[in-house]
Amino acid sequence: MSKYCIANWKMYMSKKNIDSYFENFLSKDLNNNCNIVICPSSIHLDYVNKLSESNKSISLGSQNVSEYENGAYTGENSLQMIKESNCDFAIIGHSERRQIFHESDIDVNNKLKVLNNSNVTPIICIGETLEERESGITREVLKNQFKRIFNDINFNLSKEFIIAYEPIWAIGTGKSADTETIYSIHKFLKNIINEINLNNCNICLLYGGSVNEENASEILAVDEVDGFLIGSASIDADVFYNIYNKF
Ligand code: PEP
Repeated sequence: MSKYCIANWKMYMSKKNIDSYFENFLSKDLNNNCNIVICPSSIHLDYVNKLSESNKSISLGSQNVSEYENGAYTGENSLQMIKESNCDFAIIGHSERRQIFHESDIDVNNKLKVLNNSNVTPIICIGETLEERESGITREVLKNQFKRIFNDINFNLSKEFIIAYEPIWAIGTGKSADTETIYSIHKFLKNIINEINLNNCNICLLYGGSVNEENASEILAVDEVDGFLIGSASIDADVFYNIYNKF
Protein backbone atom coordinates (compact mmCIF):
# COMPACT_ATOMS: atom_id res chain seq x y z
CA MET A 1 0.00 0.00 0.00
CA SER A 2 1.34 3.46 -0.88
CA LYS A 3 2.13 5.82 1.99
CA TYR A 4 1.25 9.50 1.85
CA CYS A 5 2.28 12.62 3.70
CA ILE A 6 0.03 15.36 2.32
CA ALA A 7 0.34 19.06 3.09
CA ASN A 8 -2.79 21.18 2.91
CA TRP A 9 -1.49 24.75 2.97
CA LYS A 10 -5.01 26.16 2.92
CA MET A 11 -4.85 29.96 2.37
CA TYR A 12 -1.64 30.51 4.32
CA MET A 13 1.45 30.93 2.17
CA SER A 14 2.84 33.96 0.30
CA LYS A 15 5.34 33.57 -2.55
CA LYS A 16 8.05 34.74 -0.16
CA ASN A 17 7.08 32.01 2.33
CA ILE A 18 7.04 29.46 -0.48
CA ASP A 19 10.55 30.47 -1.61
CA SER A 20 12.04 29.97 1.83
CA TYR A 21 10.03 26.79 2.38
CA PHE A 22 11.50 25.16 -0.73
CA GLU A 23 14.99 26.45 -0.13
CA ASN A 24 14.86 24.59 3.18
CA PHE A 25 12.77 21.56 2.17
CA LEU A 26 14.74 20.69 -0.98
CA SER A 27 18.01 20.68 0.96
CA LYS A 28 16.73 17.67 2.96
CA ASP A 29 16.82 13.97 2.19
CA LEU A 30 13.42 13.21 0.64
CA ASN A 31 14.03 9.62 -0.29
CA ASN A 32 12.03 7.51 2.13
CA ASN A 33 9.15 5.32 0.95
CA CYS A 34 6.43 7.88 1.50
CA ASN A 35 4.89 10.08 -1.22
CA ILE A 36 4.88 13.79 -0.50
CA VAL A 37 1.98 15.82 -1.89
CA ILE A 38 1.88 19.60 -1.49
CA CYS A 39 -1.50 21.32 -1.92
CA PRO A 40 -0.99 25.08 -2.19
CA SER A 41 -3.64 27.65 -2.98
CA SER A 42 -4.64 27.35 -6.67
CA ILE A 43 -3.06 30.69 -7.57
CA HIS A 44 0.31 29.28 -6.44
CA LEU A 45 0.11 25.89 -8.18
CA ASP A 46 2.31 26.89 -11.11
CA TYR A 47 4.75 28.66 -8.80
CA VAL A 48 5.13 25.62 -6.55
CA ASN A 49 5.32 23.36 -9.59
CA LYS A 50 8.31 25.31 -10.92
CA LEU A 51 10.10 25.15 -7.57
CA SER A 52 9.42 21.47 -6.92
CA GLU A 53 9.48 19.85 -10.37
CA SER A 54 13.17 18.93 -10.11
CA ASN A 55 12.39 16.64 -7.17
CA LYS A 56 10.49 13.50 -8.12
CA SER A 57 9.51 12.75 -4.51
CA ILE A 58 7.17 15.73 -4.45
CA SER A 59 3.79 15.78 -6.18
CA LEU A 60 1.34 18.59 -6.47
CA GLY A 61 -2.30 18.60 -5.38
CA SER A 62 -5.16 21.03 -5.71
CA GLN A 63 -7.21 21.94 -2.63
CA ASN A 64 -10.40 21.60 -4.65
CA VAL A 65 -11.74 21.02 -8.16
CA SER A 66 -14.89 22.14 -9.89
CA GLU A 67 -17.60 19.63 -10.68
CA TYR A 68 -18.09 21.48 -13.99
CA GLU A 69 -15.99 21.03 -17.09
CA ASN A 70 -15.96 24.70 -18.07
CA GLY A 71 -18.28 27.70 -18.23
CA ALA A 72 -19.44 30.74 -16.25
CA TYR A 73 -18.35 29.62 -12.76
CA THR A 74 -16.50 32.58 -11.29
CA GLY A 75 -13.69 31.63 -8.93
CA GLU A 76 -13.70 27.93 -9.79
CA ASN A 77 -10.88 25.78 -11.22
CA SER A 78 -11.65 22.95 -13.62
CA LEU A 79 -10.02 19.53 -13.86
CA GLN A 80 -8.32 20.64 -17.09
CA MET A 81 -6.87 23.70 -15.33
CA ILE A 82 -5.44 21.82 -12.39
CA LYS A 83 -3.98 19.23 -14.77
CA GLU A 84 -2.31 22.01 -16.75
CA SER A 85 -0.64 23.04 -13.48
CA ASN A 86 0.69 19.49 -13.10
CA CYS A 87 -1.61 18.37 -10.28
CA ASP A 88 -1.75 14.62 -9.82
CA PHE A 89 -4.03 14.91 -6.78
CA ALA A 90 -7.07 16.93 -5.70
CA ILE A 91 -8.65 17.25 -2.26
CA ILE A 92 -12.43 17.07 -2.35
CA GLY A 93 -14.95 17.46 0.46
CA HIS A 94 -12.63 19.14 2.95
CA SER A 95 -14.66 20.09 6.03
CA GLU A 96 -13.81 23.78 5.55
CA ARG A 97 -15.36 23.60 2.05
CA ARG A 98 -18.38 21.87 3.53
CA GLN A 99 -18.87 24.09 6.57
CA ILE A 100 -17.86 27.51 5.26
CA PHE A 101 -18.81 27.17 1.58
CA HIS A 102 -21.76 24.82 2.10
CA GLU A 103 -20.57 22.00 -0.13
CA SER A 104 -22.73 18.92 0.21
CA ASP A 105 -22.02 15.22 -0.19
CA ILE A 106 -23.78 15.49 -3.56
CA ASP A 107 -21.28 18.14 -4.68
CA VAL A 108 -18.44 15.89 -3.50
CA ASN A 109 -20.01 12.97 -5.39
CA ASN A 110 -20.08 15.09 -8.57
CA LYS A 111 -16.42 16.04 -8.09
CA LEU A 112 -15.51 12.40 -7.54
CA LYS A 113 -17.21 11.51 -10.83
CA VAL A 114 -15.07 14.12 -12.59
CA LEU A 115 -11.85 12.79 -11.01
CA ASN A 116 -12.78 9.13 -11.47
CA ASN A 117 -12.53 9.61 -15.22
CA SER A 118 -9.16 11.31 -15.05
CA ASN A 119 -5.61 10.55 -14.02
CA VAL A 120 -5.90 12.86 -10.99
CA THR A 121 -6.14 10.97 -7.68
CA PRO A 122 -8.94 12.15 -5.38
CA ILE A 123 -8.22 12.80 -1.71
CA ILE A 124 -11.73 12.46 -0.28
CA CYS A 125 -12.28 13.94 3.18
CA ILE A 126 -14.90 12.63 5.56
CA GLY A 127 -15.46 13.25 9.25
CA GLU A 128 -17.96 13.96 11.99
CA THR A 129 -18.58 17.12 14.00
CA LEU A 130 -18.08 17.30 17.77
CA GLU A 131 -21.84 17.36 18.26
CA GLU A 132 -22.26 14.21 16.19
CA ARG A 133 -19.47 12.49 18.08
CA GLU A 134 -20.96 13.45 21.43
CA SER A 135 -24.37 12.17 20.31
CA GLY A 136 -22.78 8.79 19.56
CA ILE A 137 -23.63 8.86 15.85
CA THR A 138 -20.10 9.02 14.37
CA ARG A 139 -20.38 5.70 12.51
CA GLU A 140 -23.79 6.47 11.11
CA VAL A 141 -22.60 9.88 9.90
CA LEU A 142 -19.52 8.44 8.22
CA LYS A 143 -21.47 5.64 6.59
CA ASN A 144 -23.98 8.11 5.17
CA GLN A 145 -21.20 10.36 3.87
CA PHE A 146 -19.60 7.35 2.23
CA LYS A 147 -22.82 6.17 0.61
CA ARG A 148 -23.65 9.58 -0.81
CA ILE A 149 -20.11 10.39 -1.98
CA PHE A 150 -19.62 7.02 -3.70
CA ASN A 151 -23.16 6.84 -5.06
CA ASP A 152 -23.44 5.94 -8.74
CA ILE A 153 -19.71 5.90 -9.40
CA ASN A 154 -18.55 3.55 -12.10
CA PHE A 155 -15.30 2.71 -10.35
CA ASN A 156 -12.15 2.90 -12.33
CA LEU A 157 -10.43 -0.10 -10.79
CA SER A 158 -6.98 0.81 -11.98
CA LYS A 159 -7.22 4.03 -10.04
CA GLU A 160 -6.01 4.87 -6.57
CA PHE A 161 -8.44 6.54 -4.16
CA ILE A 162 -7.28 8.31 -1.03
CA ILE A 163 -9.75 8.69 1.80
CA ALA A 164 -8.83 10.98 4.67
CA TYR A 165 -10.68 10.43 7.93
CA GLU A 166 -10.66 13.91 9.44
CA PRO A 167 -12.80 14.29 12.57
CA ILE A 168 -13.89 17.92 12.32
CA TRP A 169 -13.37 18.47 16.04
CA ALA A 170 -9.70 17.57 15.58
CA ILE A 171 -8.96 19.92 12.67
CA GLY A 172 -6.88 22.92 13.67
CA THR A 173 -7.74 22.42 17.36
CA GLY A 174 -4.47 20.87 18.56
CA LYS A 175 -6.54 17.89 19.81
CA SER A 176 -5.97 14.88 17.61
CA ALA A 177 -8.14 11.78 17.91
CA ASP A 178 -6.60 9.12 20.14
CA THR A 179 -5.09 6.03 18.58
CA GLU A 180 -7.94 3.70 19.71
CA THR A 181 -10.49 5.94 18.02
CA ILE A 182 -8.41 6.14 14.85
CA TYR A 183 -7.96 2.36 14.79
CA SER A 184 -11.62 1.54 15.34
CA ILE A 185 -12.89 4.12 12.85
CA HIS A 186 -10.39 3.08 10.18
CA LYS A 187 -11.43 -0.56 10.71
CA PHE A 188 -15.06 0.49 10.38
CA LEU A 189 -14.28 2.40 7.16
CA LYS A 190 -12.50 -0.63 5.72
CA ASN A 191 -15.67 -2.65 6.34
CA ILE A 192 -17.78 -0.09 4.50
CA ILE A 193 -15.28 -0.15 1.64
CA ASN A 194 -15.83 -3.90 1.38
CA GLU A 195 -19.60 -3.50 1.59
CA ILE A 196 -19.78 -1.08 -1.30
CA ASN A 197 -17.47 -3.21 -3.40
CA LEU A 198 -14.68 -0.72 -3.43
CA ASN A 199 -12.31 -3.40 -2.23
CA ASN A 200 -10.96 -4.12 -5.67
CA CYS A 201 -9.80 -0.51 -5.94
CA ASN A 202 -6.55 0.67 -4.54
CA ILE A 203 -7.61 2.61 -1.46
CA CYS A 204 -5.35 4.44 0.96
CA LEU A 205 -6.80 5.47 4.28
CA LEU A 206 -5.24 8.55 5.84
CA TYR A 207 -5.79 10.30 9.13
CA GLY A 208 -6.03 14.09 9.43
CA GLY A 209 -6.63 16.35 12.42
CA SER A 210 -3.91 18.05 14.49
CA VAL A 211 -1.12 15.70 13.41
CA ASN A 212 2.18 17.09 14.69
CA GLU A 213 5.77 16.06 15.39
CA GLU A 214 4.81 14.68 18.80
CA ASN A 215 1.88 12.43 17.86
CA ALA A 216 2.86 11.37 14.31
CA SER A 217 4.84 8.20 15.19
CA GLU A 218 2.16 6.91 17.51
CA ILE A 219 -0.62 7.42 14.93
CA LEU A 220 1.48 5.95 12.13
CA ALA A 221 1.95 2.80 14.18
CA VAL A 222 -1.83 2.23 14.09
CA ASP A 223 -2.79 -0.57 11.72
CA GLU A 224 -4.80 0.70 8.76
CA VAL A 225 -3.23 4.19 8.76
CA ASP A 226 -1.53 4.76 5.40
CA GLY A 227 -0.46 8.31 6.07
CA PHE A 228 -1.56 11.82 6.93
CA LEU A 229 -3.36 14.86 5.61
CA ILE A 230 -1.77 17.74 7.50
CA GLY A 231 -2.86 21.36 7.81
CA SER A 232 -1.16 23.63 10.39
CA ALA A 233 1.93 21.46 10.85
CA SER A 234 2.60 21.42 7.10
CA ILE A 235 3.28 25.11 6.64
CA ASP A 236 6.61 24.97 8.44
CA ALA A 237 9.16 23.07 6.30
CA ASP A 238 11.09 21.69 9.29
CA VAL A 239 8.00 20.47 11.11
CA PHE A 240 6.50 18.91 7.98
CA TYR A 241 9.82 17.24 7.22
CA ASN A 242 10.12 15.84 10.74
CA ILE A 243 6.68 14.25 10.36
CA TYR A 244 7.58 12.87 6.90
CA ASN A 245 10.76 11.45 8.40
CA LYS A 246 8.73 9.26 10.76
CA PHE A 247 7.42 7.12 7.88
C1 PEP B 1 -6.78 19.78 7.57
O1 PEP B 1 -7.17 20.92 7.42
O2 PEP B 1 -7.00 18.91 6.69
C2 PEP B 1 -6.09 19.44 8.79
C3 PEP B 1 -5.89 18.18 9.08
O3 PEP B 1 -5.69 20.50 9.56
P1 PEP B 1 -4.80 20.42 10.89
O4 PEP B 1 -3.65 19.50 10.64
O5 PEP B 1 -4.36 21.82 11.14
O6 PEP B 1 -5.69 19.89 11.98
